[in-house]
Amino acid sequence: MDIRQALGLPHLLDAKRIVCVQPHPDDNEVGAAGTLIEMSKRGCEVIYVTVTDGRAGSEMQTAEPQELAHIRRQEMFRAGAIVGVTKHIELGFPDGGDYRVHQVTERLVAVLRQYAPDVVMTVDPWMPYEAHPDHIKTGKAVAAAVLFASNGVLFPMSGAPTPIPQVAFYATSYPNTYVDITSHWDEKLESIHTHASQFDNPEWPMLSGYLAYQANEVYRSWKKDTDPEDFAGYAEAFKVLATKQLHFFPSALYS
Ligand SMILES: [Zn+2]
Repeated sequence: MDIRQALGLPHLLDAKRIVCVQPHPDDNEVGAAGTLIEMSKRGCEVIYVTVTDGRAGSEMQTAEPQELAHIRRQEMFRAGAIVGVTKHIELGFPDGGDYRVHQVTERLVAVLRQYAPDVVMTVDPWMPYEAHPDHIKTGKAVAAAVLFASNGVLFPMSGAPTPIPQVAFYATSYPNTYVDITSHWDEKLESIHTHASQFDNPEWPMLSGYLAYQANEVYRSWKKDTDPEDFAGYAEAFKVLATKQLHFFPSALYS
């Protein structure tokens, strides 16, 4: 039984309001820009929440951390404009810092209760081999916030209890939902490249080629059973779960 179908949850693309929580200022674009552009064009309200300030996002040390955080913030706004983001919320945790999941959860519960989105999107914290603490903490904080947004006992100072129906993880190794982003591919690349402090460098041709290869692989694996001749496209993959699947639900892995 498809629990999401049984619960009558809308397909990702039919959501009217989405909250996209990213650990760093560029993750939403890399993970899901094509899908978010499509949703935005369909009239969905796209709200970004950025957990950290991105100050550690350069190994080159060409800018001071504070200056880099400022630069990345401007890049985030410009990239968001390409995607169609309607609102930015910044939580300001230190990039790579020693903050706790619970602190992020508390802030996110307040956001989810205020905006009551149809779906919340973020990185998959259970991707095997994911080593970046900001990604693991953000994904887990989002999952807990989605679970507890409706619980009036927990986080009583963070607004009125509000049920959140579902969550979508990008950068996942266990996808169950695919979105054709072929027609938005150029815009997706442009939105990523807009994060110039991260991507405007000699590695960009190789990286953009790799992103295209990866998105095409996703497309082909999606189409291989239904239309194996159709292999010239790009797709993004997500693990979409009903909130009920976020607790004591072993089969969620296979849904
Ligand atoms: Zn990141």
